[in-house]
Amino acid sequence: MKIALFDAKPYDIPAFKRQGELRGIDFVFYDTRLCADTVTLAEGCDGVCVFVNDTVDAAVVDRLAAMGVKILALRCAGYNNVDLKSCYGKLHAAHVPAYSPYAVAEHAMAMLLTSVRRIHKAYIRTKDFNFSLNGLTGFVFHGKPVGVIGTGRIGRIFIDICRGFGMNVIAYDKFPDESSGINYVSLDELFAKSDIISLHCPLNEETHHLINRSTLDKLKTGVVIVNTSRGALIDAEALLEGIKLRKIGAACLDVYEEEEDVFFRDFSGHIMSDDTLARLISMPNVLVTSHQAFLTEEALENIAETTAENIIALARDGFCENELCYRCGRVESCRGGKRERCF
Ligand code: NAD
Repeated sequence: MKIALFDAKPYDIPAFKRQGELRGIDFVFYDTRLCADTVTLAEGCDGVCVFVNDTVDAAVVDRLAAMGVKILALRCAGYNNVDLKSCYGKLHAAHVPAYSPYAVAEHAMAMLLTSVRRIHKAYIRTKDFNFSLNGLTGFVFHGKPVGVIGTGRIGRIFIDICRGFGMNVIAYDKFPDESSGINYVSLDELFAKSDIISLHCPLNEETHHLINRSTLDKLKTGVVIVNTSRGALIDAEALLEGIKLRKIGAACLDVYEEEEDVFFRDFSGHIMSDDTLARLISMPNVLVTSHQAFLTEEALENIAETTAENIIALARDGFCENELCYRCGRVESCRGGKRERCF
């Protein structure tokens, strides 16, 4: 079986090579992204493997199907870049729903500690033999109210980590799990009480710009905001305004609204055309990592393993438990424990 793997990065390739050898899949690696201009690279392949910024729109799906490609294996959880409706009847699509929730939750805490205890500033200072402590004052986490929005796989691990620090955790979830022992409050109460807010809910119509200009007024002055979920949960312009007004104490961002054209690429030595991102990065109290929270050895192995399992199951049975099915038009409700073909 031959699979064209697009947007391949040096850190992706070893785990996929291992899985390919183990399961008899011939992965062909392309560093270019999949789009209408590059789709012909999949000629002669049984499937394509894509990541978050590949374009799998109706035109690409039709070209793939016309070439005889049957499998679309996403090596990520999110699928907002895929036209699943177009895939129906042509390509079997599958994703990796969870690869390492610990990696993301631990990165959220790493960013938070770095930011609040000014580790990023101290690192640069001491490299330059500057041992001054001026401007490096942080605050203690123990006993502080932290608000967690979204208490799924990652949110719960983040809550456990915060409890380890002796923090006072409150949470909001659209679907609260009352048996979890988590102290759920309304979103407004969370905004009003939290010294730190960490976002762990998915991006959808309801959560788009969850943090916006009007929510700024509801937040505590000096609040620290952590986003390792999806960029568009925060209105980046409003965040910048909140920082300039000294309303937001600090922001830790692993994701950014307009990250698609920037993240995962090296722009050093170039002019950054995204003014909002450039301004945010220039702020002393903003820490940005480029969608790095998942990037651990464990997550990379899990992603490659689940992707390879999905490919084998789709080729053998025509369905798999991680298939993104559009049969009934509701992808979410079709997920999990699938035991029959969509088409
Ligand atoms: P999950 O599905 O296990 O949990 C999501 C939680 O959000 C659920 O409890 C759900 O009920 C809740 N939720 C749904 N709609 C909501 C709403 N409108 N308001 C509040 N809560 C709502 O997901 P997860 O595995 O914990 O992942 C969380 C997010 O982390 C994902 O959506 C993804 O965007 C992001 N993520 C980021 C990285 C990274 O590298 N930065 C990696 C993986 C996942």
